[in-house]
Parts: sequence; C-alpha cells; structure tokens
Amino acid sequence: MKSKIFFVILIAASLACNTISNFGAATDTPVATPIPPEPDFEPTPTFEAPPNPNPGPDGIGDPYFEDLGNGGYDVQHYSIALNVEMGSNEISGSTTIDAEALQQITSLNLELLGLTVEEVTVNGEAALFDRNGIELTVFLPEAAVEGDPLQIVIVYYGVPGEGIDVFGPEYSEGWIYYETGVVVAGEPTGASTWYPVNEHPIDKATYSFAITVDQPFEVAANGILEGVDESGSESTYRWTMDDPIAPYLVTVAIGEFDIDEYTGPSGVPIRNYFGVGVSENVRENFARQGDMIAFFEEVFGPYPFDVYGVVVHDQDLGFALESATLVVFGNSFTDEYVVAHELSHMWFGDSVGLKAWQDIWLNEGFATYASLLWTEHKYGREAMDEEISFNYEQLATYAEFLIGRPIGDPGSENLFSFDVYYRGALTLHALRLAVGDEVFFEILRTYAERYAHSNAATADFIAIAEEVSGQQLDDLFDAWLYQVDLPDIPEMELSAADFVE
Ligand SMILES: [Zn+2]
Repeated sequence: MKSKIFFVILIAASLACNTISNFGAATDTPVATPIPPEPDFEPTPTFEAPPNPNPGPDGIGDPYFEDLGNGGYDVQHYSIALNVEMGSNEISGSTTIDAEALQQITSLNLELLGLTVEEVTVNGEAALFDRNGIELTVFLPEAAVEGDPLQIVIVYYGVPGEGIDVFGPEYSEGWIYYETGVVVAGEPTGASTWYPVNEHPIDKATYSFAITVDQPFEVAANGILEGVDESGSESTYRWTMDDPIAPYLVTVAIGEFDIDEYTGPSGVPIRNYFGVGVSENVRENFARQGDMIAFFEEVFGPYPFDVYGVVVHDQDLGFALESATLVVFGNSFTDEYVVAHELSHMWFGDSVGLKAWQDIWLNEGFATYASLLWTEHKYGREAMDEEISFNYEQLATYAEFLIGRPIGDPGSENLFSFDVYYRGALTLHALRLAVGDEVFFEILRTYAERYAHSNAATADFIAIAEEVSGQQLDDLFDAWLYQVDLPDIPEMELSAADFVE
C-alpha cells in the first residue's frame, strides 16, 4: 500500500490538501435503502451458550491487534458466493470455509463486521452462533480434535459498512461502494467488512469466488477467471486463486471495464481492468509492467504467482493496494514508481507475508526499495542515488512528520507512515552498501525463495542476511530498525547532523 502521509511529505505542502482522499463510503456514497429481511429470517438467537469447555482463542496473538485473527484452527480455502445488488450495495450469499482444527475445540471465532448472519452449518450440521462486535463465534455441533476437518458455511446478507461507526470520513478500507462500482481494499482489517474470515496475514488460504451482478456490471478478482455464467439479466463471475494469500490481499472489483490482456517478456500473463472512464494517460502508466516483472525476476527470483494485473477504478482513491495478482488503483497515484512499488509487493508482502503487523517494514520498505531499483535499472545509479539522498534529507529534516518510534516497532496506528516506507528502503540500501551488490541480491533472492507463499518476521530476514553474507549484522539492523535516530550513510556522505537547523 502507498500511504497518504508519504505523499504529504514528498510532494510537500503545496499538494497536501489533495492527499486527503475525498472518496469515502461514509461521506460520498448514496445512502442505500436497506432491504427488509426475508420473512422466515430469525435474528441472531438469544440463547444460553452451549457448554464450551475448549473455546478457540479469539485472537491469533498479534501484539498490535489483539482481537484480530483467531486460534485453534487453520483455514485452507474460502469459497465466497455473493449476489451484489449494485443499486443498493446489498450483498447476500454465503462463504464456505474449509479449515482444520489445530487443537481440541468446542467453538471457534471468525471476524465479521456488521452484516446479518442467517445460518451457520459445520460439516453439514446446523450450528449455534453468537455475535460480539467483530467476533462471530461458531459453536461446533461436535467437539473437534487436532487434525479434524471443519467445513463451515455461513449464510449472510447486508450492506457492508452500514451501521459501522469505527470508520471515519476517510474510510478507505474493506468493501467500498460507489455508484458505478465496488472497490475492495482490505489492509489491514477490511476483509471482515464483506466475508467471515480468520483475519490475520499468518492464516493464508486459497480462494474461489462466484460473484453475481446485474449486467452490464463485470467482476474481477484475484487469480484466474474460470468462467461467466449468464442467467437472464445477471452474470456470475467465477474466479479462483490457487496460491494461498492473506485475507487483506483478497479483492473483488465491480464496474464496467476495458480489459487489456497480454503476455509479458517473462511469460507471465497480464490482464488489466481499466474502468471505462480511465484516461489513456493513466492507462499508459501501466504499459511497462511486463518489463518490470522481467527486471524484478532478475533481482528477486521467479514471479511467485500465475498471473498479474491491475484494476484501475475511475475514482480518486488516494491509495493503491497490492491485492494479490490484481492490484487496486484509483485514477490518481499511478505513476511509474507506484506501479513498480505495487508490483514488487507480489514478492514482498504477498508471497512472503508478514508473521505480525509490527514487521510491516518488510512489506513497505522492500517495495519502496524495489521502485528505487527500478529507477536504477531504467535511469542509472546516479538517478537512484539522487532519490536516496532526497529521501534521507526528508527523513532528517521533517522530524515533526515522523512517528518518533523505531520502524521495527512503529505502533498499530503508524503502519503506513512515511518512515516505515523510506527508512525501510534506506535500511536495505545500507545493507547493500555493507555487504556489496552480489551478496545483497543473493540475500533478497534467498529470502524470497525460502519464505515463498509463507510468512516471515524481521528476525528471519536478519538471519538470512547474516547467513548469506557471513557477517554479523546486528548493529546495522539495530541502528536502522530499532533506534529512532537516523544513522549516517558514510558511503554517500549522508549524516543526519548536517540537516539539523
Ligand atoms: Zn506498499
């Protein structure tokens, strides 16, 4: 993801007012007419909870989000089948979750924000359930023990985000409806706005989607389009994502699109979905993606997914998000560096995922550095060095915009701060200068390969850097990641002391 604060500092005060997204479900979207419940619908039952001696934990242990994710089971696959009424933004349907118990449990928790749950079954049997804030507790008809398969079907409907007051006017997370389309951008906790989910990046799963809309709307999602079933005025788009991904990287896009398909020089199929109103100028910004994949394969190793592409909505979203194989863009914020940044997340963030949100620099520092590598590849080392010096100067000069905390532990409210992006990138550059180019790129390739389609922590990256380089690098990483003061980069004659007024 690209942060707004990054933009504030980089483009400076003259453009700062443009950085507040004017796009927000809470303010800009038409008020949807609620559809009355089905006549036979029964609201969430008030009941005596059944004996529950082994409840699964309602958090996965992330220190930044204690309620997020759940313990006791592991999801393998989500099958999301939804009908979307584009006039009202009402969704209805089901999510089927194939999971495995990791311990003895009598209940398990999922995250689901708002929406009305009609029915839950577990392995074909009706199950009692309860709602408490974002937590959906499912009481298993029969206790499960470690290794037991669990197929949980949740039937639900409602208007995503309706009645939810946790999002302010800058709401830009989760299922975002506008009059002629839907954007889904789930980082960090937006997935639960539209499907029940074990909402933490450590529980990756594969996905299939069957999304039904009225014509002429079309639907894109992660992975491969398996087919479109037409019935009267409706079309059902069936997509599958065969590689496991984190919940926040799951997206569907609804709108009217021009689809641009080709195969890049490295053989990776690319399909871009451009909203019909998106200008030629904006579309051209995506023309180099094939070359970018080829370059990143050289420096990071093989492209980790079967397909790539973007969806560009004709809306000023104010961000871009690296949804796996289908990156979400608005009609601004699409320059070459953002395009490269988002694409590089397929290796760092999407394939190599986070073990905990605290380590967000492993996503954003890497993607920011990747766009600097693209600059170096395309425009030469001097151009990259100039950008690095500029970024260093920004970090050294604008202390009041910085978080005042180390980027290795930025705090949950600062995940997408300027520091995380640019100091994260400078951390990698400092490592490169310390170990030399050959070793540095071997470190990146080893990291991308060893943790492909898995999850890593900062300590895992440091261990690989030390293993591949044969050097003790604690001091370097400690100074860059776990101290607030900006370290010098003597090789580039950069010292924070030179920028103090
Ligand atoms: Zn990013």
